[in-house]
Amino acid sequence: MRRPGRAERLDSVLARDGDTCVWCGRTLGGRVAATTEHLIPKVRGGPAWVENEVAACRRCNGGRGHRGAVDWLEECERRGWDPDVARVARVLDLLADAIADRGGQRRARPQLDAQRRRMARRGTEAA
Ligand SMILES: [Zn+2]
Repeated sequence: MRRPGRAERLDSVLARDGDTCVWCGRTLGGRVAATTEHLIPKVRGGPAWVENEVAACRRCNGGRGHRGAVDWLEECERRGWDPDVARVARVLDLLADAIADRGGQRRARPQLDAQRRRMARRGTEAA
């Protein structure tokens, strides 16, 4: 099966999640350049799958660096931005489902589990 390229994955992610930056909520397009980034970073074994990608503006993508998704989410909140917590939780779940289906990704699994546990704890505290 042919793997979709970066531009194609960006289109899929925008169609799935809408055209806003997951971290700051700004509408992407025009002067706010749209990028995709990996919730589980590649350096931590995250796969280049749409199930591991979210749309972010270039500023947020660059600002995050290799920080974990939940660390960066909480940094965005401290900065007074409006990160899409539900979207992050949803895409982490999508990735877990995709890994369960396809197997492999041994390096990404513990990272993903840790991120999902932190999201679950946040949910409990907010309720
Ligand atoms: Zn942003």
